[in-house]
Amino acid sequence: ALLYRVDGWGAPYFTVNSNGDVSVRPHGVNTLPHQEIDLLKVVKKASDPKTSGGLGLQLPLVVRFPDVLKDRLESLQTSFNFAIQSQGYGAHYQGVYPVKCNQDRFVVEDIVKFGSGFRFGLEAGSKPELLLAMSCLCKGSPDALLVCNGFKDVEYISLALVARKLHLNTVIVLEQEEELDIVIEVSNKLGVRPIIGLRAKLRTKHSGHFGSTSGEKGKFGLTTTQILRVVKKLQQYEMLDCLQLLHFHIGSQIPCTSLLEDGVGEAAQVYCELVRLGACMKVIDIGGGLGIDYDGSKSQDSDISVAYSLQEYASAVVQAVRFVCDRKGVKHPVICSESGRAIVSHHSILVFEAVSTSSNGSPQIASLGLQYFMEKLTEEALADYRNLSAAAIRNEYDACLLYAEQLKQRCVEQFKEGSLEMEQLAAVDGLCELVAKAIGISDPVRTYHVNLSVFTSIPDFWGIGQLFPIMPIHRLDEKPVVKGILSDLTCDSDGKVDKFIGGESSLPLHELEGNGGINGEGGAYYLGMFLGGAYEEALGGFHNLFGGPSVVRVSQSDGPHGFAVTRAVPGPSCGDVLRVMQHEPELMFQTLKHRVEEFCDDDDGSNNSLALINGLACSFNNMPYLAMGASCSLTAA
Ligand code: PLP
Repeated sequence: ALLYRVDGWGAPYFTVNSNGDVSVRPHGVNTLPHQEIDLLKVVKKASDPKTSGGLGLQLPLVVRFPDVLKDRLESLQTSFNFAIQSQGYGAHYQGVYPVKCNQDRFVVEDIVKFGSGFRFGLEAGSKPELLLAMSCLCKGSPDALLVCNGFKDVEYISLALVARKLHLNTVIVLEQEEELDIVIEVSNKLGVRPIIGLRAKLRTKHSGHFGSTSGEKGKFGLTTTQILRVVKKLQQYEMLDCLQLLHFHIGSQIPCTSLLEDGVGEAAQVYCELVRLGACMKVIDIGGGLGIDYDGSKSQDSDISVAYSLQEYASAVVQAVRFVCDRKGVKHPVICSESGRAIVSHHSILVFEAVSTSSNGSPQIASLGLQYFMEKLTEEALADYRNLSAAAIRNEYDACLLYAEQLKQRCVEQFKEGSLEMEQLAAVDGLCELVAKAIGISDPVRTYHVNLSVFTSIPDFWGIGQLFPIMPIHRLDEKPVVKGILSDLTCDSDGKVDKFIGGESSLPLHELEGNGGINGEGGAYYLGMFLGGAYEEALGGFHNLFGGPSVVRVSQSDGPHGFAVTRAVPGPSCGDVLRVMQHEPELMFQTLKHRVEEFCDDDDGSNNSLALINGLACSFNNMPYLAMGASCSLTAA
């Protein structure tokens, strides 16, 4: 656990149990010992074949824990409640979840359900997100906010106004000045009184990677001049009472509370000014930015850590708003936040298998016979070989390396000319490996091939270099003896993970048992990527046509296993991912089937063609990932 810093980034949800497995504490600090869930048992339940009581799902696998989601929401609410109470703040906190962080139906539905007791709402940034937020909030608290952000056209604004007609507490947040004209026109047409918010472009700038949306040159929001023009126009149309919310977003992963206080304080000044100008202000929406400690360092100097707790975040926000409003004699507004990352990151774990390592096997030289090896060498190469042997006898390490490298170069040249055979080239590679090993300088970092696509499942690692905690989920009572990097299934050299939390360029890993599980002869070696519940699923692509993982939803239960799988969904099949690129798997199958019928006859009385057709059907129906013991495949056919 220490090696992987679990206590730093994982608390209070993840720990290592006495079996040496990762254990999930679904209710955070309130989890009783008997409620802990052994992650390996969940993976076995999900992936074991149906015949052995499992669900037969293929990996990679996302394991979702709705209890963790509930605990995150409640912890956020409790932190704000405490700050409000202890500081005598005169209004309440009422958050919204930005659905862009993870639009999965069950994630959003869970958030609405768990948050309905404290009016928790949703934020949408596009038309499909608005549609899903509208339908989910029909089951939420009637007071829950539906915050409409993002660039808007007539259709988006009409939809948001329809939501008001449906008694959903919808606020249209102006991101651009031009949106106001559409809001005025369409609301008149539909006969709906809109509630309007505006997004302010603050001067406060967050300097980290995620701060590019902030500051005067940020992409979003209205400048001071634009805000004043919006107020004037609303006044002209006798709609200033509609302006009720001020929104801003400094950027994700706000590193420290001083920056937060600075931004919130500036926004609170804008809020008070809007009150002075006659708007009917009610809510200050502080956007997202509540950060996650991905490396457990609690440091504000790293893009992947934050130097505050939930409570410190909430207290800083309440304090900053209260201070400004009290000085201006303005009634305390309702505080809304749009925390996404902090709500959903912990609730899901991506589990995948290491299937083999890059070890070349034992060097080949011995089996070849020295005489045969030397026969074809040029005079120069032979001289290098003799010098190498002499240096080895004298224990001259540097000279050994030099002659070995020289010999290898000469042999490569000879191979290119055609005067050396492949076996001899392999032998010289083996000899150089032996020398490196004997001297103790062989490359200690091994490549573990993992049944995963980095582009699909960890896109932020590839796209913006974001690091996530990754570790084996079992065998943690055994010392890991290998240093490894992870290489994925895609035919793309960027499809690898070679940077890890703590600035490490390799991960401590265990030897695979029997070279992994690809041939079914070894024990599986499972790795987990943690804290990836936000953004990763929505951003992932289809590089090499690898689709998303299988998903299980796991709740803590007091039954015999301590958990219940409440939902299990296999990942997209080869047919599904082909359809994404406009192919028609049914037609493709028919074409191939006709080809089998044309070229493979069963005149000998065998049923070969039928078996081939069945195998092809399986290939369309199976997931694109390596089938580790799949029940149906071409070879089985
Ligand atoms: N609100 C807005 C407007 C955003 O742009 C974002 C994300 O960047 C969020 C909320 C969510 O931010 P976070 O995930 O940091 O809480």
